[in-house]
Amino acid sequence: MAESERFRIHYVGKSIKAAELVTVCERTCQDLRELWLGATEVARWTPKCDVYLYPSGSEFERRTRVPAAAWGFADLAVGDGRVWSRALHMRNDDSKRQARVLVHEMTHVVLAEHFVNEPIPRWADEGIAVLSEPPERRESLMELLADEAAKRRLMPIKDLTRLSEIPRDPRQSEIFYAQSGALVDYLVKRKKMSGTEVLKLVEDSRKRGWDTALKKQYPKLTATAFETGWRDWVLKPDDEKAAAKEADDSQVEELASD
Ligand SMILES: [Zn+2]
Repeated sequence: MAESERFRIHYVGKSIKAAELVTVCERTCQDLRELWLGATEVARWTPKCDVYLYPSGSEFERRTRVPAAAWGFADLAVGDGRVWSRALHMRNDDSKRQARVLVHEMTHVVLAEHFVNEPIPRWADEGIAVLSEPPERRESLMELLADEAAKRRLMPIKDLTRLSEIPRDPRQSEIFYAQSGALVDYLVKRKKMSGTEVLKLVEDSRKRGWDTALKKQYPKLTATAFETGWRDWVLKPDDEKAAAKEADDSQVEELASD
């Protein structure tokens, strides 16, 4: 076992570089806390997050009862204003794959720190987690999404924000991750929202519904216009003309809301 302020690494089998991993956990955690929670202080966690490493896919599957293909997952108990338990379970047989799983699952652990009364909506939880992953993964999801968008098969945002379960069908589930990630990405990149502003909108949309929350954020923008802008962006994320026009619109919106 190796331990830090917020993490405890547990492992069996061949020795691993546990001290290095605990440092990676601390750093990843703090980067995510700053980005999404606006937290600059390094808070101690009570309880700490237990990180369990498994030497192989079969060992992971045998002990967690989760398919080896999942590679890892976060196990959190949250409610009544606090986090009651935090754990990360990860395979330890492919360091590149593990790095991707670590940052994704760590995002769930960090977001749970903020959503201690009501659970974070699924789209936001997975969308933010996907955005934390290395660029190759995001790029392949964006390709999949552009293809779906070209065929006019994207789920309406209102429906996406209401989904409580990830679709079971593998392709539909990938599309769900892609669409959720792209929505968060659009808010950050095109709408220039900070992490804390995105979380505020997410909380608002859980309470009041997407359309109402959006109206509060952008009084001059209809939900339909937002959705059209987002779909266009999915097809052409680098369209600078559209970006300039939307930046103009946002200014008008900000003035209107003053
Ligand atoms: Zn996830």
